[in-house]
Amino acid sequence: MKAQPPASHFIDGEYVEDTAGTPFDSIYPATGEVIARLHAATPAIVEKAIAAAKRAQGEWAALSPMARGRILKRAAEIMRERNRELSELETLDTGKPIQETIVADPTSGADAFEFFGGVAAAALNGDYIPLGGDFAFTKRVPLGVCVGIGAWNYPQQIACWKGAPALVAGNAMVFKPSENTPLGALKIAEILIEAGLPKGLYNVIQGDRTTGPLLVNHKDVAKVSLTGSVETGKKVAGAAASSLKHVTMELGGKSPLIVFDDADLESAIGGAMLGNFYSTGQVCSNGTRVFVQKGIRDRFLSRLKERTEKIVIGDPMDEATQLGPMVSRAQLDKVFSYIERGKAEGATLLTGGGIPNNVSAEGTYIQPTVFADVTDEMTICREEIFGPVMCVLDFDNEEEVIARANGTEFGLSAGVFTSDLTRAHRVVDQLEAGTLWINTYNLAPVEVPFGGSKQSGFGRENSLAALNHYTELKSVYVAMGKVEAPY
Ligand code: NAD
Repeated sequence: MKAQPPASHFIDGEYVEDTAGTPFDSIYPATGEVIARLHAATPAIVEKAIAAAKRAQGEWAALSPMARGRILKRAAEIMRERNRELSELETLDTGKPIQETIVADPTSGADAFEFFGGVAAAALNGDYIPLGGDFAFTKRVPLGVCVGIGAWNYPQQIACWKGAPALVAGNAMVFKPSENTPLGALKIAEILIEAGLPKGLYNVIQGDRTTGPLLVNHKDVAKVSLTGSVETGKKVAGAAASSLKHVTMELGGKSPLIVFDDADLESAIGGAMLGNFYSTGQVCSNGTRVFVQKGIRDRFLSRLKERTEKIVIGDPMDEATQLGPMVSRAQLDKVFSYIERGKAEGATLLTGGGIPNNVSAEGTYIQPTVFADVTDEMTICREEIFGPVMCVLDFDNEEEVIARANGTEFGLSAGVFTSDLTRAHRVVDQLEAGTLWINTYNLAPVEVPFGGSKQSGFGRENSLAALNHYTELKSVYVAMGKVEAPY
């Protein structure tokens, strides 16, 4: 299988190569095959991308929001027309099963272009402020050149979630995908050109943690939006602070999912499984600490085990496959080391924990894994694993579970399953998280703000709220009379 793009980078409307950059391979996680060979960006490539973005941005910002929006809506249509092709590429890039990518990846990227393209004409207005004769008005203006840096779990979605609001607000973007998943963003850049986006406004450059700082520290960059780990977030936010750049931080989590005795059991188990095993557990908002009230604990665990052991693991290109490999060998090793830690610290391995026996030995597969009898202080309960490993904890009452759910430095997401409506609202009010669900888990439609609190980040993606993070306000005071000076 090959997925070699014409060149490593996409700058100023075309593919560009610079073989002086460090070569790296793109690997299909299901088989270990090299599917593309690319080069990390050299400083010259970084300069070229930022210069192209800077050059193109002014004219783009001068267009009406409606004209900009029209191009984004066309990009959404092209993405939907090519959903199969883009989904297959996403599967090659990440190893995620086609059953998922076909409904969740290019489609959610297309949703972002459609949403921001559609709202553009009405959402970038300013205010009129009457001052008794005099008045003021505000204008919402773009920031300039914005940098997007992506994680490897949703490469096409991340490229679009950052690109769509940035572009519609009149900015230009230089996007760096994760070195693990370099392919999808290049296709998004191609599609934007085909949809009519002027050259230079959406550029993609490759590279790793050594390339990112060249972008973050660049004097012509106004904003950085990162999706990544808390550790990286601290470095990027710190570097951006030294030149007072705007930042959006979409970081990691260890989110609580609380199941009360009165919950619909099958729905709660379904929510917990989706919130731990979808995308082979590589989802930032996963509800990896599943608190189950003691009255339903045994029934919950026995049905969870039964349903988990039926998950179909296999070739990601087979539409029947429900769980693919981890993105890389390094990530797989990390997840196995957490599983060993869980066992050593006394958690009960309910199911999984090993390598499935029906898959290629070269693939980076792991069984969906559930630990029961997990306690708050165990490492697997405190640290983000970023793999298909669910921790189930028991609890007695509401007050106790809220305190324990909040006992973490993270604050990305949280969920509650109960049939008591007032309790559901009372609990979500007290949970410290940016994105919360009642009686479901992990749905993130573009209409709803998405993002974290505490160390899971700041700023929001999606919804009208995202536009605030890609624009700033200009306030204009208009005097209607003469200036009265005391001197
Ligand atoms: P990572 O932090 O290792 O890397 C993220 C990106 O940052 C990569 O493109 C990487 O090359 C780049 N990078 C690394 N160091 C950098 C530096 N010093 N300066 C600039 N760029 C740098 O994360 P990952 O392993 O790719 O992704 C997994 C993490 O992302 C998890 O913690 C997960 O929770 C988080 N995540 C968060 C969200 C969200 O929306 N909140 C979504 C997906 C993933």
